[in-house]
Amino acid sequence: MPSDDNGFARLMKEKLAEIRAVDILPEELVGLVERVLPVQLGARDKARVTLPEASGCATVEALFAGSPLILRENFPHDFEQALGLFETLLTLLADSGGAAGQAAKTLRAAQAAGELDPAQVLRALPAGDETLFAAWRQRLPDSPRALDFLAVSSLWPGLNAAARALAPRLPENMPHDQGHCPLCGSLPYLTLLREKEGLRFGACSYCGHEYRLRRISCPYCDESDTAKLRLFRVEEYPGVAVSVCDTCSMYAKTLDFRQLGKDMLPALDDMATVALDVLAQSQGYKRPTLSAWGF
Ligand SMILES: [Zn+2]
Ligand SMILES: [Zn+2]
Repeated sequence: MPSDDNGFARLMKEKLAEIRAVDILPEELVGLVERVLPVQLGARDKARVTLPEASGCATVEALFAGSPLILRENFPHDFEQALGLFETLLTLLADSGGAAGQAAKTLRAAQAAGELDPAQVLRALPAGDETLFAAWRQRLPDSPRALDFLAVSSLWPGLNAAARALAPRLPENMPHDQGHCPLCGSLPYLTLLREKEGLRFGACSYCGHEYRLRRISCPYCDESDTAKLRLFRVEEYPGVAVSVCDTCSMYAKTLDFRQLGKDMLPALDDMATVALDVLAQSQGYKRPTLSAWGF
């Protein structure tokens, strides 16, 4: 990601233009992401996170045996900031129009009536408690992921700020034979090939950390038997492959940034390649994680 603000703004603009050119995702959603991402990045810079002492983290032996540095339910984030962002993002969602805008109005009315407590929502996500989210997916059939979006996107700046601060604590010779994130234990939402050797990385669906993965393996079930793993490509999307696993029936998109020859913004590149999700899902493969924004 380019470090200067102008570079980032230009890159975001290019990626959004790509997403709009593909014309699969509704404009409400693309416009929403366009407004939400700068808010999140600004919040990440201001997030206040308290990192645990080394004694509160997994030992090097435990890390090598596959434990994450900190369990997801204990992973540091900025709860107060997330509460504020929940309101900001709810307003952006309401203004986005369409079904998502309607869902935001329903959520706001529930909040006013005391039926929905943002603090409870923001505690349920780290705890892995699906009950509340499942109930709201049913109540909002036209925009089932509205509450997931609010929770994931509000917590992300603090989680990612913590991930960036914690990453240097991982040992340099960390093995990469596990599919999950070594910091928080969550699954990747996307995989990336980088550097001239084509090293494979996973982009964590929870804390946003990018970490090394084995080149040939399923990041979801660790299958490494090449007879069970297949890779398919689509001519219109050079540099993007879909790895499917016949053991767990999951798929992962792999973006090859050597071939794409451009800067990456994985969360947006994920949206720009949504046609490949449609294709993989039409063949019966599932994606175990949501987008970086929870939809
Ligand atoms: Zn993570
Ligand atoms: Zn698998």
